[in-house]
Amino acid sequence: MAVTRTFSIIKPDATRRNLTGAVTKMLEEAGLRVVASKRIRMSRGQAEGFYAVHKERPFYNDLCSFMTSGPVVVQVLEGEDAVKRNRDVMGATNPAEAAEGTIRKAYAESIEANSVHGSDSEDNAKIEIEFFFKPEEIVG
Ligand code: UDP
Repeated sequence: MAVTRTFSIIKPDATRRNLTGAVTKMLEEAGLRVVASKRIRMSRGQAEGFYAVHKERPFYNDLCSFMTSGPVVVQVLEGEDAVKRNRDVMGATNPAEAAEGTIRKAYAESIEANSVHGSDSEDNAKIEIEFFFKPEEIVG
């Protein structure tokens, strides 16, 4: 299996509860390595651009407000089949449906405040990594 990269966000509900380390530990235990990480306050423009694919969805405005409501930690993760590995450890979008042992089962507060983002494809991983990181900020 090829070593690949994916993009992750530790969302404001998790940073607010001081869970950055706990979430990162679960990512690492799932076989992912943090090769870039920074804590930022997302601007409204960044949030709207990042989630542009959801622009027509009813939750878009609230989601952009939530993502700018506190600090987030954006990360590049590396590992074998990183996109799927990360999606597996994240768990289902709705924490009520998330499997035992997943980050969202352990920590998510709601379908919106669900603690983590993870790219859903290799193509989107590349786009999302470039949205937040310069190449020299990623140290593999
Ligand atoms: N979301 C929401 N309400 C919904 C569905 C999604 O607030 O009914 C938010 C939630 O924070 C989710 C994000 O929008 O993580 C992106 O949704 P997507 O369907 O891409 O889920 P994900 O890939 O994050 O599991």
